[in-house]
Amino acid sequence: WLGDGTPGDFLHVSAEIGIGAAVVVDGGLLRGTRGFAGELGHVPVQPDGPVCACGGRGCLEQYAGEEAVLRAAGLEPDEDRVGLLAGRAADGDEDVRRALREAGTALGVALTGAVNLLDPESVVLGGELSGLAPWLLPSLREELARRTAGPVCPVSVSRLGPEGPLLGAAHSVVRAVLDDPAAVAGRA
Ligand SMILES: [Zn+2]
Repeated sequence: WLGDGTPGDFLHVSAEIGIGAAVVVDGGLLRGTRGFAGELGHVPVQPDGPVCACGGRGCLEQYAGEEAVLRAAGLEPDEDRVGLLAGRAADGDEDVRRALREAGTALGVALTGAVNLLDPESVVLGGELSGLAPWLLPSLREELARRTAGPVCPVSVSRLGPEGPLLGAAHSVVRAVLDDPAAVAGRA
């Protein structure tokens, strides 16, 4: 609703400590039978990688979650994790840039599975992750292009920034009212 020319089928990826994706099909959110659709952070990128809180191994979160990236860059967790990483990367800190490149590669591997399965119009990076896009995107795009079976799926950065998911949640309420005004009126 808020983006310019937002496609009807896309994947919105956002990351904080965890990484989640919203799968939008025909303009609507795919929730899954049990409400767990879009758990991109628990897609394995290394079958024998580190154990994850979900019980699996080598999940994307272990490579591209904010804390994982801080660890890989040799930094202590900070209140403003993304601000710290973006600041260091902008200053040319090679450890941080390498950690972000590797996170981008891991995101590309995980997203290849999603793109091959769903063939979305595009992938949109949003949430806190969008602040790190300049350093994540090149390796992410390279990995995705190298691995996807069909034509290359474009990857863009959400213009809504970190507020995108909140705005989306608010608009989903507004949309529910517009879709069925009588149901809401009857509840009052
Ligand atoms: Zn996991």
